[in-house]
Amino acid sequence: MAEPAPSAVFDPCRPLTDLRGVGPERVRQLARLGCQVAGDLLWLRPRRYEDRRALLPIAQLTLEREATVRGRVVDLGVSWYQQRRKSVFDLVLDDGTARLHCRWWNQPYLEKNFERGMELMAHGLPVQLQPRTMNQPEIERVELGVEETIHLNRVVPIYPLTEGLSQRWLRRLMHEVILGHTIALPELWPGVDFGALPSRADALRWLHFPDEPGQPELARQRFALEEFITFQCELRARRQRLEASAAAPPCPGDNRWVKPWLAQLGFALTTAQTRVLREIRQDLAQTIPMRRLLQGDVGSGKTAVACAAALMALESGWNVLLMAPTEILAGQHFLTFTRWLEPLGIPVKLHTGARKDLPGQPDPVTPAPMLVIGTHALIEQKFGLERVGLVIIDEQHRFGVSQRQKLLRKGRHPHLLVMTATPIPRTLGLTLYGDLDCSVLDEKPPGRGQIRTHVRGEDRLPKVWEFVRQQLDAGRQAYVVYPLVEEPENRELKAATQEFERLKSMLAPHPVGMVHGRLPAEEKAEAMRRFRAGESRVLVATSVIEVGVDVANATVMVIENAGQFGLAQLHQLRGRIGRGGQDSHCILVAHNTTEAALERLEVLVESNDGFRIAEADLRLRGPGEFLGRSQSGRAHFRFGDLARDLRWLEQARQVARQLTCSGASSGAPTRAK
Ligand code: ADP
Ligand code: MG
Repeated sequence: MAEPAPSAVFDPCRPLTDLRGVGPERVRQLARLGCQVAGDLLWLRPRRYEDRRALLPIAQLTLEREATVRGRVVDLGVSWYQQRRKSVFDLVLDDGTARLHCRWWNQPYLEKNFERGMELMAHGLPVQLQPRTMNQPEIERVELGVEETIHLNRVVPIYPLTEGLSQRWLRRLMHEVILGHTIALPELWPGVDFGALPSRADALRWLHFPDEPGQPELARQRFALEEFITFQCELRARRQRLEASAAAPPCPGDNRWVKPWLAQLGFALTTAQTRVLREIRQDLAQTIPMRRLLQGDVGSGKTAVACAAALMALESGWNVLLMAPTEILAGQHFLTFTRWLEPLGIPVKLHTGARKDLPGQPDPVTPAPMLVIGTHALIEQKFGLERVGLVIIDEQHRFGVSQRQKLLRKGRHPHLLVMTATPIPRTLGLTLYGDLDCSVLDEKPPGRGQIRTHVRGEDRLPKVWEFVRQQLDAGRQAYVVYPLVEEPENRELKAATQEFERLKSMLAPHPVGMVHGRLPAEEKAEAMRRFRAGESRVLVATSVIEVGVDVANATVMVIENAGQFGLAQLHQLRGRIGRGGQDSHCILVAHNTTEAALERLEVLVESNDGFRIAEADLRLRGPGEFLGRSQSGRAHFRFGDLARDLRWLEQARQVARQLTCSGASSGAPTRAK
């Protein structure tokens, strides 16, 4: 293909107005796409590509399959309905093989952009074939002879647009920038081998104006790897700064509280717990602040590890903060730690949105070191505490990195232990928590009953409730979970409330309680207390019970709409049962789901290993789902895709290690903000 010969040397710092056809209005539009100077255009990533060398004849369109076609306008018009409050604009294209109807609702003004005989390209999803129809397709005008080599007969980039900016205009500009200039793109790390991936210069061209449809993906991988390397270098640098600068209080303790605590605990620590505690004690003894991630499947006994670690710091005379993601979990920890620490004479306080044991200002004469347990309320400006030696964060994946940092600022250079029950596949963990050391509790305490998991269709529900009733009659307790995760608040509430009323009459006389996210904190706490005390026998809940709730007598869990949840999350939920010596049953109810969805749930029937389930989940659903929705602190990449790029992540880590060791880590410009 004949491309214009590159002429001018490209200066990335030049203002956009230096480019042909760009005035103040265009500058404003391009700014809305994140482009301030000429160099930003290089990293404006196309949304998708169209191979316009081989367009589909309209007669060959198939249902539900995106396609691009080209034809002439043979008819057009707006029809009104509902007393002229609604309208549909219909545009008919003919390419000689068949006709295609393109429809837009309530945008009657579109009509004036088109006329009969005009040649157009339409890209969209056919929603019906009689007549062939696309709803709101993307339209681009064909102008023969004008810039034909840019817009036709090639693989064409489709850029993100903004109001007032047309695809043709932007593509013409990008074509001039990318192919009309000599762009100096030196390798960022000259010594690094990128193997089969394209050079930076090739990757840039392939990203925007590829010769073949496969090239953009290779270009994406090239830039993804650069992003990952930059990110890993940042993590390593952060880590090195920490080690060089900070002076943490050494908190190894002297066992004067750990010993009696262990003696009254009622069980011996597992080998895994003992090993992890040794790792933690070694860290705590240093003046380099500990940054440790403790991963342990649900029920592996992380709370006991947290307590022993807290005691070490307390013995050394330092206060300890423990932050949990929900009021329920904070409340539960408060009960546990009060029971454990009060006999030793150590004050335990609760600080949540609903209850604040501590005054806003730190007490200047704190006699004895104390443990403060709380929720996000601990992060608030108003909360302050002197002499914090150790910060513990439970269920880390609920908090972002910035929240972690805010909490750490409460102390001067406190040690940090973060605990997560979401087993994170190794590579992903290294990426997200690359600045943390990692400990794993890979052993469950002995003497637990088995958890058996069953997948059932909706039609089997009567049998399921019969089974639940039998278990209740036998003295057990049950959870019924409604994971309506993506629903608007009011619908979630309504569904759970309706079901609550239904279950109450169905399972009578066994008392039924309910918790959900919208309940006031005191009512939540009261519902939990009643269930724990056995006053209610069934707990209807939305996913708020996912973490931390610990009732050994609850041996049945029914999860409705199980298909809506990620496997890792279901595994978490399931971890609420099987906490006593009795065998437990988890029943996953699938509502009008496909074979594939049922098969996915079968992973849980077959495996009880959180790490295996997490790997499966990552493969099936990608990391966004897997990590939860509110990952404010997660790294965002422009090109990198954590689900697909695990091998590049791994490679980036190795490269970053070499680079930071040789001190040659300069930043890449491609890291998205
Ligand atoms: P998680 O890791 O999910 O936070 P927990 O810390 O809540 O798990 O522990 C689950 C249950 O196991 C608790 O009732 C706890 O007291 C108990 N437990 C913890 N460690 C042991 C152990 N070594 N032996 C027996 N039971 C233990
Ligand atoms: Mg826990």
